[in-house]
Amino acid sequence: MKIAIDKVKRMQVDLSEEEPASHYPSLAEMETAGECSFTAPVRAQVSAVWEYGHVRASGTVASAVRLSCSRCLAEYELPISSEFTIFYTESKGDELDEEVELSDEELISASYTGDEIDLDHEVAEQVMLEVPYKPLCSETCRGLCPQCGADLNVAECGCDRGEINLKMAALKKIKIEK
Ligand SMILES: [Zn+2]
Ligand SMILES: [Zn+2]
Repeated sequence: MKIAIDKVKRMQVDLSEEEPASHYPSLAEMETAGECSFTAPVRAQVSAVWEYGHVRASGTVASAVRLSCSRCLAEYELPISSEFTIFYTESKGDELDEEVELSDEELISASYTGDEIDLDHEVAEQVMLEVPYKPLCSETCRGLCPQCGADLNVAECGCDRGEINLKMAALKKIKIEK
């Protein structure tokens, strides 16, 4: 997905694209690493305008992934969608043009060189950010019994697991995750 600079200087550019996740190297890598598998193509819509010497590109990305719950190992599917706004300024080429996250996390500042902006990297990045690092099939997933391996969401197995300690651990975890 590309924005031609000479075109966006004259008028608003609206783009929409649908590609398989494998089109994006970083997403293909996630699948190869077994982190998740994409069950829907990546749909991206972007509107770009020229303002005050930079390009403002805002849009949405959407897809869906199949994940394995980090507690009970069950597979589940998660729809993904995200909105973003990126300000592209032309690179002067004499310094490292790192991406800068502005104070508002929805706003991203980036740079471009040449006569077009390639949005693929940002599209893949936005999708990656939405894939949970520690997937949970549900907030209340009880996980597997550490003694016998039974799925505690299905039935209580009757093992003595020192429930009190487990609950304490779960509470601590919730606090950390917040
Ligand atoms: Zn689970
Ligand atoms: Zn058990």
